[in-house]
Amino acid sequence: MLLTVVDEQPGSLDTLGMARTIGTPVAAVAFGTAADGAKLADELVKHGVGTLHLISHELLTDYAPEAFGEALAQLIARLRPEGVIATGDDRGAEVMAQAAARARLPLATQCVSVTGGDPWQLTRIRGGGMLLEDAELTAATKLITVAPGAAGAAEISEVRAVDECVVEAFTPELAPELARTRVVARTTRGDGVSLATAEVVVSGGRGVGSAAGYAVLEELAGLLGGAVGCSRVATNNGWRPHSDQVGLTGTKISPKLYIACGISGATQHWVGCMDAAAILAVNTDPEAPMVTRATYAVIGDVHDVLPAVVAEIRARAGPRR
Ligand SMILES: Cc1cc2nc3c(=O)[nH]c(=O)nc-3n(C[C@H](O)[C@H](O)[C@H](O)COP(=O)(O)OP(=O)(O)OC[C@H]3O[C@@H](n4cnc5c(N)ncnc54)[C@H](O)[C@@H]3O)c2cc1C
Repeated sequence: MLLTVVDEQPGSLDTLGMARTIGTPVAAVAFGTAADGAKLADELVKHGVGTLHLISHELLTDYAPEAFGEALAQLIARLRPEGVIATGDDRGAEVMAQAAARARLPLATQCVSVTGGDPWQLTRIRGGGMLLEDAELTAATKLITVAPGAAGAAEISEVRAVDECVVEAFTPELAPELARTRVVARTTRGDGVSLATAEVVVSGGRGVGSAAGYAVLEELAGLLGGAVGCSRVATNNGWRPHSDQVGLTGTKISPKLYIACGISGATQHWVGCMDAAAILAVNTDPEAPMVTRATYAVIGDVHDVLPAVVAEIRARAGPRR
C-alpha cells in the first residue's frame, strides 16, 4: 500500500496520480477534524481513493511540524506502507523530514519521476534546481516528496471514481511539548509589491551591516516600484524577515533587474536569483562571485553607492519625487 499525504491545497491531490504510477493500492492520509475528513473524502472519491486515514488530535488544531511528523511516524509504524508520498512544498518537506527522522526511515525530496519496484528508481532535483540526480531508494517504507509541479506534469492514466472513500480515524499519542513549534498567529502580507513577482528586487546581504541599513534599500525599491530582498545572513541576524530571503531556502525570483547589495553570491543565494534578466552587483570585492557573474557591477561601499543612486534618481525625476 502507498500512502499519499493530502490537504486542501491546490495540487495536493496531483500526488495521488503519481503514487498510482508507483504502485497500488493508494490510500490518502490527512490531518484534521472529522468535518475536514468528510469534505476531503468527497473529493477523494473522484480520484479513485477508497480510504482516507484521518489523523486527529487536540494538539493538531493548527500546523505544528513536530507533532504532525510524530503523528505521521506513528501511522507509518501502524500501517507499514510500502511508501509515503507528499507534495514537496515547504510544509510537505518539513512534515516528511520530521516523520522520517522519527521513524528512522530515508526520505528522498524533490522527486520529479519515480518508478516503483525494489528499489524505487528516482530522479530528483538537487542544488536548488542546478542539477538532476538519478537515485535508488531502498527501505521497508520509502518516503518521498514530489517537486512542486512535477506531479501535475506527470503522465497519469485516467482515474476511475470509486463509490465511497472510507475515513479511518487515527489518534496518535502526542506529548504536549511536541506543540512547541506551531502556528500561533497569522498576518496578512501588506499591499506592497511582492518579492516573488516584483520586476525589480533590491536585495541586501551582510554588507548592509544592520537592520537600519535597509532603509536606503527600501527607498530605492520604492523609487523603482520594486521589492526588497535579502540573503540568509540578513535573516539569520534578524535584520529582515524570512519572507524576504532569496535563495535555496528562501524565494526563487526572476525579476527584470536584481540589485544585489553587499551579497557575495554563494551558490545557495545564486540559485534564487539566477533567473533575473539582469543583475547589478554593488560590492567592495571585485572578485565576489556575485560581481563576476553580474550583468553590471559597481565596486564600492553600499553605504556610499546606494544613497548616491537614490539622490540621482530623485534629481532626475524632479520635484515630484
Ligand atoms: C542548506 C543551506 C541553505 C542556504 N540557503 C540560503 C538562501 O536561501 N539564501 C541565502 O542568501 N543564503 C543561503 N545560505 C547561506 C549561503 O551559503 C551564504 O552563507 C549566504 O548567502 C551569504 O550571505 P551574504 O552574501 O549576505 O554574506 P557574505 O557571504 O558574508 O558576503 C557579504 C558580501 O558583502 C560584501 N561587502 C561587505 N561589506 C560591504 C559594503 N560595505 N559594501 C558593499 N559590499 C560589502 C563582501 O565583499 C561580500 O561579498 C544557505 C546555506 C546553506 C548551508
